[in-house]
Amino acid sequence: MKINTNYLNLNESYLFSTIARKVNEYKAQNPDKEIIRLGIGDVTLPLVKPVVDALKKASGEMGIKETFRGYGDEQGYGFLREAIMKYYADTKRVNLELSEIFVSDGAKSDIGNILDIFSKDNTVLIPDPVYPVYADTNVMDGRKTVYMQATKENNFLPLPDESVKADIIYLCSPNNPTGAVYNRAQLTEWVGYALKNRAVILFDAAYECFVADKSLPTSIFEIEGAKECAIEFCSFSKTAGFTGTRCGYTVVPKALIVDGTPLNKLWLRRQTTKFNGVSYIVQRGAEAVFSPAGQIEIRRNIETYMNNANLLDSALAKKDVYHTGGKNSPYIWFECFDGMESWAFFDYLLTRYGLVGTPGAGFGSNGKSFFRLTAFNSYENTLKAVSKLLK
Ligand code: PLP
Repeated sequence: MKINTNYLNLNESYLFSTIARKVNEYKAQNPDKEIIRLGIGDVTLPLVKPVVDALKKASGEMGIKETFRGYGDEQGYGFLREAIMKYYADTKRVNLELSEIFVSDGAKSDIGNILDIFSKDNTVLIPDPVYPVYADTNVMDGRKTVYMQATKENNFLPLPDESVKADIIYLCSPNNPTGAVYNRAQLTEWVGYALKNRAVILFDAAYECFVADKSLPTSIFEIEGAKECAIEFCSFSKTAGFTGTRCGYTVVPKALIVDGTPLNKLWLRRQTTKFNGVSYIVQRGAEAVFSPAGQIEIRRNIETYMNNANLLDSALAKKDVYHTGGKNSPYIWFECFDGMESWAFFDYLLTRYGLVGTPGAGFGSNGKSFFRLTAFNSYENTLKAVSKLLK
């Protein structure tokens, strides 16, 4: 008997546990001081009414013999995939086929599971700083990882380097943790590199709904040629507050063929073998996100978060602090004040102002002197945070 020893190569993640410990210690020493948490990457506004109504209705159906549903399609119900297809056509001018869309219980699962269809011999290219799931899931498989440097010099938007050869490329735009968003020309460069090097781009669009600037792409498939080299992951988590409800989707275009094998076929086989689909009730809730009333209400929530993001963005601009994000993203990533390193800055903000954020070092070595704040708290708390940052 042998275990997968690659797991022993994973770095323990102490980021959020260390933050929690430090905050608890501070609270114990300063019971009367207010703490404002802008570290969380979780949404705080509840599900919108059209979604709740759809969830209730679907639950009712499950209790009636005539409308009860057992196993559904592993790839997701047609009604939800049609709604996603229409969303792509209407908002991104991207035409998809129903069989290119796979519904899942969230982007994280699919981002991890997709690696089943790739050889462990592939080299992966991952940005530093990064959403840790990309790195850890490859360590688990023992794949070779090369890091692309996201730095102040490239505004945290690394571009292809022809001298670096990779088979699988991770791009996340709008980015977690940096909030940076690739423009059309930059994504065109990546698609060109992937096509030339016969690499596959894994594009994480979990934050696409926060892009307000119409000139910015919200899907890799808005770029010509991307259907031949990319897979896209998306989620209802941040779009519609589904972090606890769980639903996402992955687009694997039919035109994506590697060595004569369509990846869509492999992914379908993987999903039909290892996955039994997302609950009918949740899929009805996700469908309601795309209804006219659902869209109006989720947009209102997104605007609430973006007002917070804009507050933080303006405050840092006023203070002349270098930062990315905050404009088309709920994340604001900025240089720590006075040359501090990110954990020292964490302690400084906590002990001086009761303000909690996330040290950039937790996302990679390039985050060493950077800090992440999120827009997912209330407007009142964000205002308080801003007044403290501006002091
Ligand atoms: N991708 C990125 C970049 C994220 O930040 C997150 C969640 O924080 C996810 C994917 C996971 O989304 P889900 O809740 O759909 O699993």
